[in-house]
Amino acid sequence: MAYRDHTKVVQVGNVKIGGGNPIAIQSMTNTRTEDVEATVAQILCLEEAGCEIIRSTVPNEKAAKALGEIKKRIHIPIVADIHFDYRMALAAIENGADAIRINPGNIGGADRIKAVVDAAKEHHVPMRVGVNSGSLEKNLVEKYGGVTPEGLVESALDKVRMVEQDGYDQIVISIKSSDVLTCVRAHELLAKQTDYPLHVGITEAGTLYGGNIKSALGIGIILYEGIGDTIRVSLSGDPVEEIRTAKQILRDLKLREGGVEVTSCPTCGRTRIDLIGLANEVEKMVQKYPYNIKVAVMGCAVNGPGEAKEADIGIAGGDGEGLLIKKGEIIRKVPEDQLLSVLQDELDHWQA
Ligand code: SF4
Repeated sequence: MAYRDHTKVVQVGNVKIGGGNPIAIQSMTNTRTEDVEATVAQILCLEEAGCEIIRSTVPNEKAAKALGEIKKRIHIPIVADIHFDYRMALAAIENGADAIRINPGNIGGADRIKAVVDAAKEHHVPMRVGVNSGSLEKNLVEKYGGVTPEGLVESALDKVRMVEQDGYDQIVISIKSSDVLTCVRAHELLAKQTDYPLHVGITEAGTLYGGNIKSALGIGIILYEGIGDTIRVSLSGDPVEEIRTAKQILRDLKLREGGVEVTSCPTCGRTRIDLIGLANEVEKMVQKYPYNIKVAVMGCAVNGPGEAKEADIGIAGGDGEGLLIKKGEIIRKVPEDQLLSVLQDELDHWQA
């Protein structure tokens, strides 16, 4: 049995996290939260891409109020991200936040922690607490001789106790490091010491290229070990890319089904079409289809059909015209410039 099968179930809006529930995909808006129009537009795009929980920063009263407006127009739970000011946590909860992410260690003392926990309790709002490698307390850096997995775990569990002391247990823990191996080790240690659900991610992972690799490695290893109940891929880029990556990590680990998987050939001297451009277009186009199938995009008619055997549908390029393939069998020839639309038509009429 995986660790995640026996973590506590915490409910964020209509999404259950932990206890073997499907691993929820999260992202964060990068609009100004007080700009309701822009924030709603971004969240709706993220919903369409497959985001299941969204987080937005609440740095001021205006943003807290905006949260209430945003919530009316979206369909997924919204988590308020709070830094330092406990009054923003109270305002966010008042305005309907489905969860808050807060560091109880830096909001100014026991009274304030109690005020926030009491409000969270009253409104059944879970709290995400934890630590990022960049914000590990000085005393723990000194105690462990640097930012270590042991220090991160101790810090996270300290924060958990601060909330528990006030009698609340609707907690999700996150430990994030920008170093893959530190992050993996910290999760291995933490999973043995708690049954709260864990929010997994590699922090400040980087740009699309480096960030995707780091996230796939870090989140992938942790999930493979049976740890982690919800994930966020952090990228310096469009948050929709975070969702695409998260979905692919879950699908490749067979932790989620559904969604078209695209395979494409690496191209070689035989390729006579813009295979790379075509594969990218196909990858974008298939995102809206929920079918649990494989689509292959191959560069040539010589090896393409054979290599596409594993796929449910394939297209193979040629010189001026290409092929439509199903389960390795050539169905018909298609003019090269129609390969994408023919594939789309097949998917529109796919009998799942
Ligand atoms: S499918 Fe054709 S073009 Fe693509 S790598 Fe194989 S031989 Fe080359």
